[in-house]
Amino acid sequence: MGIFDFFTKKEKMTITSTKTNTVTDEEIKKVLDPHKRKAWYPVVKEEKGGRDTSKFSGSPVLLDSEEWPCCGNCKEPMQLFTQLNSNELPQDANKPFGEGYLQVFYCTNSEKECEIETEAYFPFSKSTLVRVLGFDEAFSKINKPSQVKEELPEKVITGWEPQNDYPSGEELDELGVSFTDEQFDYAYEKNYMSLSNDKLLGWPLWVQGVEYPDCPECGERMNYIFQIDSDDNLDYMFGDAGCSHITQCKKHRDKLAIAWACG
Ligand SMILES: [Zn+2]
Ligand SMILES: [Zn+2]
Repeated sequence: MGIFDFFTKKEKMTITSTKTNTVTDEEIKKVLDPHKRKAWYPVVKEEKGGRDTSKFSGSPVLLDSEEWPCCGNCKEPMQLFTQLNSNELPQDANKPFGEGYLQVFYCTNSEKECEIETEAYFPFSKSTLVRVLGFDEAFSKINKPSQVKEELPEKVITGWEPQNDYPSGEELDELGVSFTDEQFDYAYEKNYMSLSNDKLLGWPLWVQGVEYPDCPECGERMNYIFQIDSDDNLDYMFGDAGCSHITQCKKHRDKLAIAWACG
């Protein structure tokens, strides 16, 4: 290599590295803004709330005709992971699951290993129950005490904190967004990506890849509604720091699921 070549090469490298620094906020925003969504972090208070309030753990509203929902595997009462009252959600969330109470029950019985035995990381596992109870249903007037073993501490959701949320990973590919490595690094550094922690709406934080379940009735991809992350408001870890998502079919609103993945 001649001295001239050396300088040419060096010059080229300099140009490349200057380019790294010239990724602008403007150019990233221009690409991502059409996909920007609002997400909301729940604001919680560790206390016991009424049965009809939005919460993590604690006692939910139950139908007049039923006992506490039990696991299809071990037959023990399942943890209430969350209950969301549609009247207590932010107005611009537009009632994402309809009217009523969204409830997520999940068996955490580690002795019987229900999570593994029933493959609760996949949607529609029999050690989970995800449903919406309408406000017009007949609810039990008796305040049935929880019989959940090792019940997680109850946290009442007292408000919602709005955040900007962006798609990330393979979801970007699906949306036809292609970044250069530099742009990708920039977006990552500035956190223009799907947020971790528990949140309402926004974009799901996928750990493995895009995994919206299909509705068992019509086969359509289900809508993402709520994210429950490991060890955020619930003192619970999905596998190795996994992240779970609650989804619902747009057409069949009684088809709901929880599923999760970990790294
Ligand atoms: Zn179980
Ligand atoms: Zn459907």
